[in-house]
Amino acid sequence: MIYQKTLQRPVQVEGMGLHTGKSVSLTFKPAPVNTGIYFIRKDISGLPALRVQSRNVRATQMATVIGSDLFAISTVEHCMSAIAALQIDNLYIELAGAELPIGDGSANIFFRALKKVDIIEQSELRHYFYVTQPIYFSQGDKYAYVLPYNGLRITSTIEFPHPCIGKQKIEIDINETSFEHELATARTFGFLKDVEALKKKGLALGGSLENAVVLDEREVLNPEGLRFKDEFVRHKTMDALGDLLMLGNPLMGHVVLHKAGHDMMHGFVQKLLSSVESYRIIELAKPVSFASGYSESYINS
Ligand SMILES: [Zn+2]
Repeated sequence: MIYQKTLQRPVQVEGMGLHTGKSVSLTFKPAPVNTGIYFIRKDISGLPALRVQSRNVRATQMATVIGSDLFAISTVEHCMSAIAALQIDNLYIELAGAELPIGDGSANIFFRALKKVDIIEQSELRHYFYVTQPIYFSQGDKYAYVLPYNGLRITSTIEFPHPCIGKQKIEIDINETSFEHELATARTFGFLKDVEALKKKGLALGGSLENAVVLDEREVLNPEGLRFKDEFVRHKTMDALGDLLMLGNPLMGHVVLHKAGHDMMHGFVQKLLSSVESYRIIELAKPVSFASGYSESYINS
């Protein structure tokens, strides 16, 4: 049986917010079964808490922002992708500010922190969002669809008219090991002209070559270069994995993405949730074998 998981003990992450440029501290804490993932604003009286789920998404322009009438928390996607890859179901995330630490612009700061402590099984089974029929979504020239699949697989393509990017594609079965080696360290990227415009507006004040790949019209400006030749599509795939956590249940399916961004992913997640005839919420009797395709190991919850 596959049981829900949480952390054995709290663990802290320190860093700087991308937009404010201010230092921020975040603490992951264990949570009881069937809690889900919650953010708690420690700096606001009454300690308001907000669940990570689609209906709490407030903005998707440059990053995924969740919020209520009281408060917002920005740039949750890198943290969410690390949680998804480690298959953690229940977690309180305390934050003393409106923005998560940016780290080096990848998911690594969160992945490393969560790996420092034991991830423990809890007493109740995991509830999967199990896709039974294809579900398609498009937005302009962007599209996403999901097919039934025994595991979580993402195929992702991007296209940027830039000599260092062009057309890139990745196909990956998501698990802790593949995430660690293929996605966790892929950094966010931006174009110099956009970064300068953001700074004029008082945004991205903490943005630098330390926490993003920055490109001018011809080349990558970071002296150390890229971590992967296709670091761009890897980052977009990591972002998408984080945004899929907004489903509220771990997804089982093969997701195919073209030009995915936070806005498209938010629309796609809403489409998935509303396609009630095309998925079931299930529990798994046995661990999934990623190599051998389908198995009949499901029981209805
Ligand atoms: Zn990102």
